[in-house]
Amino acid sequence: MRIGVPKEVKNHEYRVGLTPSGVRELVAHGHKVLVQAHAGLAIGFSDEQYLGAGAAIVSDAEAVFGQSDLVIKVKEPQPVECRMLRPGQVLFAYLHLAPDPNQATLLMESKAVAIAYETVTDERGGLPLLAPMSEVAGRMAIQAGAHALEKAQGGRGVLLSGVPGVLPARVVVLGGGVVGLNAARTAMGLGADVIILDKSLPRLKDIDNLFGGRIKTLFSSQSHIEDAIRDADLVVGAVLVPGAAAPRLVSRSMLKTMKAGAVLVDVAIDQGGCFETSRPTTHQEPTYIVDGIVHYCVANMPGGVARTATQALTHATLPYALLLADQGWRAALTSNMYLRNGLNVCLGKITHPAVADALGQPY
Ligand code: NAD
Repeated sequence: MRIGVPKEVKNHEYRVGLTPSGVRELVAHGHKVLVQAHAGLAIGFSDEQYLGAGAAIVSDAEAVFGQSDLVIKVKEPQPVECRMLRPGQVLFAYLHLAPDPNQATLLMESKAVAIAYETVTDERGGLPLLAPMSEVAGRMAIQAGAHALEKAQGGRGVLLSGVPGVLPARVVVLGGGVVGLNAARTAMGLGADVIILDKSLPRLKDIDNLFGGRIKTLFSSQSHIEDAIRDADLVVGAVLVPGAAAPRLVSRSMLKTMKAGAVLVDVAIDQGGCFETSRPTTHQEPTYIVDGIVHYCVANMPGGVARTATQALTHATLPYALLLADQGWRAALTSNMYLRNGLNVCLGKITHPAVADALGQPY
């Protein structure tokens, strides 16, 4: 099969659909991979490395889309890219179609087969192609929060680890899923004093077993949240209610109970945010201050560490890309129900119930 990897066109998007080592695996399976010139250059994957892995380099996106049967990319296709898709061509990427009727219409018009990373599932009901970005964002939340706690950034001038004779910082993580667990682990690794709150008792039990009590767990009730944030230096918002906007767990009036210069990192900002005072920010201007509390609310955190994120994404997508390339999309989707859950648009029709529902389309 011919597989195409275009350069991403969204503003400040430096990730790329496949690393050179991912290309090498596909080539070893007998496939031809076309990579757009400079697709990975910004994150240190040169055209020479792609050539070395067996890819052919083509000059522009038209050539990638025009000559491939399967297009692998990161972000949802922009209108100019949707118009390059052709009937029966397979697109494998993050799509996030529910809030994007324009993209949905263009994908239906293209009559392509669009498989969304974010709705591929696994045998445990998890989302294996979203998880790597949550792992990245969770770990990064502590790095970002530690920086924001510095005095020059508006923070309270506290070092997460403390030093001998000085207590470590208190980190409160709201939500103990993939983001929350990765944030908590990183904070614990730095020596911070960490509490995770979650509504799921089985989840809290797992965390308690996993860390032998070194990370404290607390059931997420309103009064527990109020108590926890009062003593916090850094609060990470990592909650998710599938298919819904993030619950607002910290109101503006609660900020007044917090220590001046404490930091809120709202990873759930891509679902609307779990702090009342959150609004999306960018890597260029990641923080702002409300009532003396520093807010970090970058909606695409993994984009800030695009090289690591690209590697993590390729590792997760590669088995599915191999399945699609080796078997063709019809056989691959028939043989693998988890990959089939990723099918969002097929030959002019919306094929995912939640996406159809959100867009008011027949299913
Ligand atoms: P997840 O499903 O693995 O975990 C969410 C957790 O939140 C679950 O354990 C759930 O029980 C818990 N929860 C739900 N309601 C709660 C409440 N009221 N109080 C406490 N806990 C509650 O999800 P995830 O992969 O960890 O993602 C978390 C959020 O981070 C999502 O909104 C996701 O979209 C977002 N995210 C953002 C970025 C970014 O760049 N900003 C990157 C990756 C993920």
